Amino acid sequence: MIIPSAPEFLESLLTTPSPTGYEAAGVRVWKEYVDEFADEVFTDAYGSCAAKVLTDKNAPTVLLEAHCDEIGMVVQHITEQGFVYVNKLGGSDSTIARAKKVIIHNRNAKVVGVAGNTAIHLQDQKNGGGKEPAWKDIYIDIGVSSKEEALELVQVGDPITYEDNFEYLNDHILTARALDNRIGGYIIAQVLRMLKSVSKDLQVNVVAVNTVQEEVGGFGARMMSYRLDPDLALVTDVTHATDSPGIDQKEHGTVKLSHGPSIQHGGANHPSVVRYLEEIAQKHNILVQHEATSVRTGTDTDSIFYQKTGIPSALISLPLRYMHSPVEICSMQDVDALIQLMYESVVGLKADQRFTVH
Ligand SMILES: [Zn+2]
Repeated sequence: MIIPSAPEFLESLLTTPSPTGYEAAGVRVWKEYVDEFADEVFTDAYGSCAAKVLTDKNAPTVLLEAHCDEIGMVVQHITEQGFVYVNKLGGSDSTIARAKKVIIHNRNAKVVGVAGNTAIHLQDQKNGGGKEPAWKDIYIDIGVSSKEEALELVQVGDPITYEDNFEYLNDHILTARALDNRIGGYIIAQVLRMLKSVSKDLQVNVVAVNTVQEEVGGFGARMMSYRLDPDLALVTDVTHATDSPGIDQKEHGTVKLSHGPSIQHGGANHPSVVRYLEEIAQKHNILVQHEATSVRTGTDTDSIFYQKTGIPSALISLPLRYMHSPVEICSMQDVDALIQLMYESVVGLKADQRFTVH
């Protein structure tokens, strides 16, 4: 099986900011792509987008899910001198925020700024100089000298992202700002596109959804899975690759870049669906890795599996280094393997297949 690549769509997804709660532009890129081939596409009240490949109205429905939002920052306060103080959107890391170029997404324009970093010569050790900053310590310099000037450009509530950072380090290792989880939108769109091309052989209907507000609590996934009430949900999001320096694999498990997608076990992951994914991987010689969920998966899977009367669900994760930083890294070999695993899992489903624990 050859997985079609869509390099322009991938770059467009990864260079369109989609901060959590402000995802409209990010979803638009995804919607325009799936509009080309899906049988039905719609957007819900908060902006999550669903694209369907329909076969038979009596057939069961499979949900393919990935969140479309990314972490970021938000304008919190503007000083009399025109400096912009910020707060986090989702799980952003204040200790890496300084000395970065950022974009403030005002309704009227994109405003470039820099997160101020006092020179090492001037840092006052008694006043916390050189220490890791909290969010209250982070400010953006947008090159103005007064609050009035600043207010002509930005306002409280404008979302902020780091600048775009899309680049291949070699033929398969990709770095970008928001691989978490803009890359998931690429994966489910490619799977849906491939399924559309074989839809006459499918025994299920398929709906792919790119959901909002995962980074602040999995809310878009709740709305969409409640509405769509699927019979099975396959979720994809990033997971921590633990093969870079300084990570204790005894504590965090072993996940390596370019060693295949990671199948999650336990918690929201339905045991029969997990077993089915393992069988499909084995049958099609797809290299996979394994992770244990101790309490929660920390993904939209936690929001989906308990909707209505329970939706058999499983999470297939993409190994990622440096999560929640502007230099996240993933392997396109893992991306392609994940696409193949998801695709074959749907192709292999029978109309009367039921996932139970008995
Ligand atoms: Zn994520």
